[in-house]
Amino acid sequence: MTELAETITERRRQTRKSIYKYLFCAETSRSKQEIASDLSLSMPTVHQNLSELFQAGFIRRDGMQQSTGGRRAMRLTIAENVRFAVGVSITEDRLRFLAVNLRMQEIAYKNVKLDVSEVNAIGLRLSEELETFLNENGLNRTKLLGVGIAIPAVINVELGKIALAPTLHLKDISLSEITKYLNYPFYVSNDATSGGYAEWYTQPEQNRMAYLSLEGGVGGAVLLNGAPYEGDNRRSGEFGHMCIEPNGLICKCGKRGCLEAYCSASRISDDLGITLEEFFEGLELQNPSYRALWHDLLLHLSIGINNIRMALDCDVILGGFLTQYLEPYLSEIRRIAAELNTFDNNADYIKLCRYPKRASTLGVALYFINEFIENI
Ligand SMILES: [Zn+2]
Repeated sequence: MTELAETITERRRQTRKSIYKYLFCAETSRSKQEIASDLSLSMPTVHQNLSELFQAGFIRRDGMQQSTGGRRAMRLTIAENVRFAVGVSITEDRLRFLAVNLRMQEIAYKNVKLDVSEVNAIGLRLSEELETFLNENGLNRTKLLGVGIAIPAVINVELGKIALAPTLHLKDISLSEITKYLNYPFYVSNDATSGGYAEWYTQPEQNRMAYLSLEGGVGGAVLLNGAPYEGDNRRSGEFGHMCIEPNGLICKCGKRGCLEAYCSASRISDDLGITLEEFFEGLELQNPSYRALWHDLLLHLSIGINNIRMALDCDVILGGFLTQYLEPYLSEIRRIAAELNTFDNNADYIKLCRYPKRASTLGVALYFINEFIENI
């Protein structure tokens, strides 16, 4: 192909992608006229591209609209169920499977209990459970874009290794131990980075953000211009192991005083031998020891958040499943954080996430949805 022909092909591809992306991002269906006017494209160009997208089955009609001239304008949207992606999260006691369509809507979910001893043979178990999950939900494998796997670990993709996963008690193992039995395209990412990505993806107007994930472990991600900022060793955003209390509580990483040791969901559930629901019920009933523990957690959380704000000067989004319980305490967290801060009078930069549940599985599945859109 000549250079000119290549340029024309590439330009056409970009136009097709921009039309698809426009329909993907639109909350409601759109007419041809709206596409042409909003994207500053000519009607013949829009018509040609829509025909191609129709033919490929990537867009669909979505009702009609009465136009001013009395003619009915066709409404269009993406064909959201033409493909799907699966996100899997591995934690110390569970495997979670989430299948989402191209609109990021959940089409199936399952969580499977895992024995600690199984972590070493996780690859085979994961693959078997994935096949069961696909079968049980009648999911068509030919539509499966890929399987994303979120792990609470520092991952080195180039070396194909998990450098460290304190909560899984894994160190320096090959990623292929986890992926070698999979029959689909796969992608492995840190769980908190995936969660942050899901939050950013649905609010792309947010240019930069720090994401602090509060689950059994505490992690995070820094997103700049929509991409995770990884750092030299892919350890950026490992907020859980910031020291916030010298000689403080012991952390799963072996050090003392880490944010994770103070603010993980485990501290107020597993470590007490109760569920999170039981903890918050007790807290509401003014259980004095729960109240003291909760106050300590909020104080250290606010210190950690303020440090993140000091280092990065951007919004701090609180994510992870503990966040489901934080709304009543958000004003207190903001108050403590604002008091600690040299520059800010308030801490409105602290926000709660959109996806307290399943963010990491959604985020890691999004990798394939994004790839699909980019290559449409
Ligand atoms: Zn630590």
